[in-house]
Amino acid sequence: MSVLTIDREGEIAVAILDNPPVNAISAEVRCALWQAVETLDADPGIRAVVLVCAGRSFIAGADVKEFGQPPVAPHLPDLVARIEAAAKPWTAAIHGAALGGGLEIALGCRFRLIDAEARVGFPEVGLGIIPGASGTVRTPRLAGIEAAVEMVTSGKPVPAPEALRLGLVDAMVTGDLRGAAVSYAASMTCGPLPEPVSARPVETRPDSYWSERRAQLEKAGEAAPLRALEAVRRATEVSFDEAMAFERATFLALRDSPEAAALRHVFFAERAALRPAALKGVAPRGIASVGVVGGGTMGAGIAAALAMAGIPVTLIERDAEAAARAHAAVSRIFEGAAARGKLTGAEAGALSGRLVCTDDYAALGHVDLAIEAVFEDLAVKRAVFDDLARVCRPDAILATNTSYLDPRRLAEGVPAPERLIGLHFFSPAHVMKLLEIVPLPGTAPEVLATAFDLARRLGKMPVRAGICEGFIGNRILKRYRAAAEDLLAEGVPVAAVDAAMRGFGFRMGPFEAQDLGGLDIAFLQREAARAEGRDVPETLADILVRAGRKGQKTGGGWYDYPEGGRMPVASDAVARLLADRIAGGEVPAPDAIAERLVGAMADEGATILAEGIADSAAEIDLVEIHGYGFPRSKGGPMHWTGRG
Ligand code: NAD
Repeated sequence: MSVLTIDREGEIAVAILDNPPVNAISAEVRCALWQAVETLDADPGIRAVVLVCAGRSFIAGADVKEFGQPPVAPHLPDLVARIEAAAKPWTAAIHGAALGGGLEIALGCRFRLIDAEARVGFPEVGLGIIPGASGTVRTPRLAGIEAAVEMVTSGKPVPAPEALRLGLVDAMVTGDLRGAAVSYAASMTCGPLPEPVSARPVETRPDSYWSERRAQLEKAGEAAPLRALEAVRRATEVSFDEAMAFERATFLALRDSPEAAALRHVFFAERAALRPAALKGVAPRGIASVGVVGGGTMGAGIAAALAMAGIPVTLIERDAEAAARAHAAVSRIFEGAAARGKLTGAEAGALSGRLVCTDDYAALGHVDLAIEAVFEDLAVKRAVFDDLARVCRPDAILATNTSYLDPRRLAEGVPAPERLIGLHFFSPAHVMKLLEIVPLPGTAPEVLATAFDLARRLGKMPVRAGICEGFIGNRILKRYRAAAEDLLAEGVPVAAVDAAMRGFGFRMGPFEAQDLGGLDIAFLQREAARAEGRDVPETLADILVRAGRKGQKTGGGWYDYPEGGRMPVASDAVARLLADRIAGGEVPAPDAIAERLVGAMADEGATILAEGIADSAAEIDLVEIHGYGFPRSKGGPMHWTGRG
């Protein structure tokens, strides 16, 4: 069956594109559209054409199967030009989303109608490329320079009312979009037609405008947004054809760049992670309410994440006072979300009003899932699991947020072990996307599927992790920090290591990050392991913590923070404390430092993979990107070092 069928409504042809699931522009779709233009142009009974799409969306972008492949004719820019040049004017009827090439096709049409719930945009920069079929050239002609720059450099979609306000579309429709588009086309094509978008004039801006925008975008350190900006600038300064040639050349060059390859890798890894093949056909359980035990740093964040996803939460603390503190902490998160425009003030108030915080475990009698986030202490956690087993329904899923303890030991003896699972959130839990999902040996597949489904509902990136100390992410972190300390021992200054990693694309270097989070957490964990008789070598961080240097909170860690400030200053005290552990040596170039540290992460990743703790190198990359700030445009440590 063809992807395109033609209906006739009097003199108006309705071209219906049907290429499930989202009408991606495959080579077949391009051919079919080209053929339709030719056929309808030659049809004397047809005056105008409406393009509608079947299913849940208009054309939502390129066909991911063609990513990274050589382009196949007819090329999209030629198709958009052919639609624009059609003797019978085309009207795009947009529902769902018109993204990337889909929006470019709409821009080639003479008219655009949009469903009030739809959105349009150019997400290309997220894949390390720019629009390649006139997005940067036609958009400023239609919607102005500011809107074009924002759309192509941010990748953020624009909702229908905004698209109408910007002039990207001619009319917004609620209800029968096809009917409205046919009537619109019939009436608008009676008289003189508006100029095609390519023939419309475009404004210009002074150099200062472009340099300011450039400076803003340079901070992110990614090539595609800068190149997209450059393409819009060209579109305002040279002829339409020259601008098109520049856009196409830029698109093709970026498409073959390492950055685009890395971002494609992440794109496919994310898609696969959200729908793990091993759980195909396993139906998740519904989760209508959740209990969280412990309302400290993690518990408060987890409760907020759940509540903001529309899931009612009951939070348990040790006593009434702690419960009140937890309520205030979660409410502050809601208020923060409201201040950032993620919730309205009224929604924040309503969520806060609905949140139940109590010291009475009996309040968990109805929950479908309980997540413990109490102190990282085996005895405390075991007591909590005993309480949960007592008060929760026998089929309620029981989860632990432990970072380092063995989940099998936490819940020993708890009846119905098929409902036990590790759900390892990252701090702050309402912000960080990563969720490590740790099945126990007896965890039922439907419980695992439920955990993945919950991650999706929370907007998290789920990755299965096997049981070992630190699971995937913290285990790699440990190796990364050890490698960073090795560099110090070789005489590389603390600040040089941090600067190299910032230059690589991390927001913070390993030592700055430890100072922010506190050196004591990892220290206590090492001490606990030593107390158990395990052989844990003394780290440089141990020396600092023993000297009272726990990070910013104590006014000093790897750096000094004079007057309680946050500005790190190289520390003489640290130099003295570590003097006999540090050799004098040559300081490697920043690239070599980054290569060594990322190499260490990838080495640990390879071991983790070999042990079956992670299912794929790509999932290790997701852990680092979504949990530890690894730059997305570098694809993760495994991809970057050529191991996945
Ligand atoms: P926290 O000390 O901030 O909070 C723990 C909370 O649990 C406290 O508010 C305490 O009052 C409460 N609590 C203790 N015993 C309780 C009990 N029996 N019943 C009810 N409440 C009880 O600790 P945190 O940083 O939120 O860590 C909690 C867990 O999350 C730990 O297992 C930790 O390893 C893990 N974790 C922490 C981080 C992090 O970055 N902080 C990240 C991931 C996982």
